[in-house]
Amino acid sequence: EKTPLALLGLGAMGTALARAWLAAGHPVTVWNRTPSRAAALAAEGARAAESAAAAVEANTLVVTCLLDDASVEEALAGADLDGKDLVNLTTGTPGQARGRAAWAHGRGARYLDGGIMAVPPMVGVPEAGGYVFYSGPRDLFERHREVLGAPLGTEYVGEDAGFAALHDVALLSAMYGMFAGAAHAFALIRKEDIDPASLAPLLAGWLTALAPSVHQTAEQLRSGDYTKGVVSTLAMQVAGTPTFLDTAEQQGVSPELLTPYFALMRRRLAEGDGKEDLTGVVDLLAR
Ligand code: NDP
Repeated sequence: EKTPLALLGLGAMGTALARAWLAAGHPVTVWNRTPSRAAALAAEGARAAESAAAAVEANTLVVTCLLDDASVEEALAGADLDGKDLVNLTTGTPGQARGRAAWAHGRGARYLDGGIMAVPPMVGVPEAGGYVFYSGPRDLFERHREVLGAPLGTEYVGEDAGFAALHDVALLSAMYGMFAGAAHAFALIRKEDIDPASLAPLLAGWLTALAPSVHQTAEQLRSGDYTKGVVSTLAMQVAGTPTFLDTAEQQGVSPELLTPYFALMRRRLAEGDGKEDLTGVVDLLAR
């Protein structure tokens, strides 16, 4: 017998999750604010509940995948959560997750927060490598690990309810830095007779080759020695910044995605040791 669950929220992500749980043989009670989306899933074997409260009542395990934190509060307003295990996969801040955990506890429920590191087409496709960060009571995670692992991989990151969101936002923040760098690179070649499709594999290869440098950054942060293992010193890299700014100028490209990072590199050089890596920027960001 596979664990039954209620799933509230049938947007792009919720619908993909529902299908994966149904495919894995779990009885799924679904609810969506706009009922037509639940009707479509009912034809695929889900039980469509009349209301969020009814979906909750019929199950111990309740999963939410809604637009934002406010929609979770709104959707569950009329539901009796006493004795329920609430797993909230809605994206939010660590503060919102901690607040939602306290809110759930106040209503008699146990609470796990999740941060989804996947897009809907990756759901139910283990080879795609998508997973969900979970945080909250470890025993609660262990109890539901199998059912939670059906649609996507699971990555438990700690008892603090805010840690899943924190990890989620940390990874996505790094992703935006990567997107920003790629946007600048494409802008540089834009006016030339260079096919963006010929730059793309070179960019992908370069970013992939450099990505493991995060391990060295982590080691330096742990030891406090930012000169350990340095191959390209801060002093050398700061000296090189005019090349990047002048090239942008020559290509008619705004340097606005690069300048904030260069400013931090220069400040660190002015305050610290030129033989360091770029790791000191992390310290400058801490308020
Ligand atoms: P969608 O915009 O496709 O769906 C939003 C869902 O929230 C719908 O079911 C909508 O109901 C419901 N909703 C919105 N407001 C309320 C409300 N006030 N009360 C009740 N229900 C409400 O979003 P996704 O499914 O894509 O995303 C859901 C969550 O998953 C988000 O937190 C998102 O950040 C996260 N996520 C999504 C990813 C993606 O690539 N799609 C990737 C990683 C995380 P209705 O149908 O009635 O409008």
